Amino acid sequence: MNKIEHWIDGKVVASTSGPTSPVYNPATGEQSGEVALASVDEVDAAVAAAQAALPAWRATSLSKRAEIMFRMRELVDANRKEIASLLTAEHGKVLSDALGEVARGLENIEFACGVPHLLKGGYSEQAASGVDVYSIRQPLGVVAGVTPFNFPAMVPMWMFANALACGNTFVLKPSEKDPSVTMFVAELLAQAGLPAGCFNIVQGDKVAVDRLLEHDDVRAVSFVGSTPIAKYIYETGSANGKRVQALGGAKNHMLVLADADLDMAADAAIGAAYGSAGERCMAISVVLAADSIADELVEKVTERIPDVKVGPGMEPDSEMGPLITAEHRDKVASYIEGAPAEGATVVVDGRRPGGDTGYFVDPSLIDHVRPGMACYDHEIFGPVLSVVRVNGYEDGVDMINANPWANGTAIFTRDGGAARQFQFDIEVGMVGINVPIPVPVSYYSFGGWKASLFGDTHMYGPEVINFYTRGKVVTSRWPDPATSEVDLGFPQNR
Ligand code: NAD
Repeated sequence: MNKIEHWIDGKVVASTSGPTSPVYNPATGEQSGEVALASVDEVDAAVAAAQAALPAWRATSLSKRAEIMFRMRELVDANRKEIASLLTAEHGKVLSDALGEVARGLENIEFACGVPHLLKGGYSEQAASGVDVYSIRQPLGVVAGVTPFNFPAMVPMWMFANALACGNTFVLKPSEKDPSVTMFVAELLAQAGLPAGCFNIVQGDKVAVDRLLEHDDVRAVSFVGSTPIAKYIYETGSANGKRVQALGGAKNHMLVLADADLDMAADAAIGAAYGSAGERCMAISVVLAADSIADELVEKVTERIPDVKVGPGMEPDSEMGPLITAEHRDKVASYIEGAPAEGATVVVDGRRPGGDTGYFVDPSLIDHVRPGMACYDHEIFGPVLSVVRVNGYEDGVDMINANPWANGTAIFTRDGGAARQFQFDIEVGMVGINVPIPVPVSYYSFGGWKASLFGDTHMYGPEVINFYTRGKVVTSRWPDPATSEVDLGFPQNR
């Protein structure tokens, strides 16, 4: 049995704690490995390695840190297929989608290559007579990342690339459902020249996360996952004096106005709802269709569904793979099961008859959904698209703004004024205008509002440079000894 261990101080470290968790191939339901679950002592060993590596890494020149990121960029680029295959084997998403995930992760390493520029401070000459003032940004120390199953390569890259480039050392706790890919990435970081101890991985569950949240040497925690756990991480980490950014779940709406190009909107809805089997925090799970075009739009989505090729992620023809676990498949299926009793119409039922060992649910479509129904109120995180009919722009915007989640949203229209107004009105962190999955490029920052983000700082991009550093302001004078005198007054600048 393939055993997935920890990565501490630049090497694989076999677990001594005992407990493990099974890892599956979601396309077949077969167990492919088992992952170690770290004990408190093992987490402490990882944090100690990161703490020991910190002084030298902090003192490493910006040029050298950038050079290592450039080398990492080349290594990830050269190993895209290997990384993608590793994650498809345990996550289940199709290979083309996994390659897309690697490409978006790589953009964050590329952004981190610019760290010498990103860490430039300000300088004010002659703030007072003979006095100069300047600002610098310094790393926090040991920082931790806790990541979800749905982007096992990209989300860690969101975190460690900028954290390391800023001079911090890092401890990652990946999802226990698809942990192998990060072990490969750790090897690439070592090949890139990152000194041992700067990047560490503890495999594990709540025990490991809780230890990271309470460890005195961990200065900050970046988290991505579901809303209840994000809230818990934020509250516990903050109570322990750590800087925390915790991104939570989502329920993303796509508003289709009556003037939209309906073929384009239907194509977009199919890709955004069923890509990666809907297991994306930026997936569209609700289409808000203006009444006058709703029937036609539902028809266009329905006729496209049979063309989505569902199959094992490793097969080149597959466009949509299985869900992550059998439990999750059954949970997703339960929303389809319960929809008619709540008054909705199941237009396409993607549940498969029993006997299928893989964790597949085919693309599903539920029409006449309303707030208050389970399929609307919950984050399904599967290939189930709900259609809610709305009167028009105002009704759609009110519904989006009333939703507790606020990660991403999109509007489809030909009316530039309506799109501009949507961008102004909508209370959501990431907005698409005729773009269904508006994941920002790496030189902007990623994050939602409301229950999709706990903390103040978004992930990656410029905001995360602030998150992973703290500011210091130096007021400096090189006086002429001849003019020195005692002055008990409060320093003034005029
Ligand atoms: P999850 O919250 O179950 O797990 C995320 C991480 O937290 C994992 O590493 C897990 O081991 C750990 N964890 C789980 N339970 C814990 C507990 N009780 N205490 C401490 N740690 C715990 O999420 P998931 O199922 O892996 O991922 C899917 C969720 O993540 C969805 O809700 C999705 O919307 C969300 N997500 C959000 C974003 C975003 O950017 N907002 C991105 C990706 C995924």
